[in-house]
Amino acid sequence: MILGRMRGAGIARAVMQGPRPVVLSGPSGAGKSTLLKKLFKDYENVFGFSVSHTTRQPRPGEVNGKDYHFVTREEMQKEIDAGEFIEHAEFSGNMYGTSKGAVQAVQAQNQICVLDVDIQGVKNIKKTELKPIYISVQPPSIEILEKRLRDRKTETEESLQKRLTAARVDLELSKEPGLFDLVIINDDLEKAYSELKEVLLEEIKKTEESRKS
Ligand code: ADP
Ligand code: 5GP
Repeated sequence: MILGRMRGAGIARAVMQGPRPVVLSGPSGAGKSTLLKKLFKDYENVFGFSVSHTTRQPRPGEVNGKDYHFVTREEMQKEIDAGEFIEHAEFSGNMYGTSKGAVQAVQAQNQICVLDVDIQGVKNIKKTELKPIYISVQPPSIEILEKRLRDRKTETEESLQKRLTAARVDLELSKEPGLFDLVIINDDLEKAYSELKEVLLEEIKKTEESRKS
């Protein structure tokens, strides 16, 4: 594609020139981060994480600029107003969003850009030209999800209840035909990981091949 057209078309079209991005969604606690950690470890240079912005507090071990850009509501709203976000949403009392810069940073490395977003993010990304592969990671049941969230020990009782309410909505909305290219039920972690790898295999191969040439 010629440069002039790329400039005019903006970020979403520009992203399409590189490998196809991947959107991972699904209820909080379903296992997205766990699966992504494995994927990034096994394919270090192939994937790049789109580091979202959020107004929630960091969890122990989370690194600013790596897991999220942790910002205040004021800072984030200012950047949204300046048109710097592809999508943003309110989730469980906090703001979350994908900046254009987050996706661009991954694209600049010619890596497969992985976005971890909630269902509102999925719906909003559908309106853009990003054209990713959409994957929903789901728990075997709400009861198991609740147990995993409790065992993770990252949420207050209030936050946990909000996440369970959001999870019920997510699981209902996810039934919409065609919304996701793949739904992975994360019961056995290794099995879920195999399914994730299998659907991404073609893009992984293409990206690895392009590295060699
Ligand atoms: P998410 O990123 O979707 O919010 P996490 O990856 O943090 O979810 O997973 C939530 C919790 O469940 C974590 O403590 C994780 O170790 C655990 N977990 C993830 N997958 C499984 C699984 N297949 N079986 C049991 N526990 C799991
Ligand atoms: P957590 O607080 O557990 O890290 O994330 C809560 C929810 O926010 C998850 O469903 C996660 O996918 C979603 N999320 C994380 N980043 C973004 C983002 O940039 N945009 C949207 N729409 N959701 C996000």
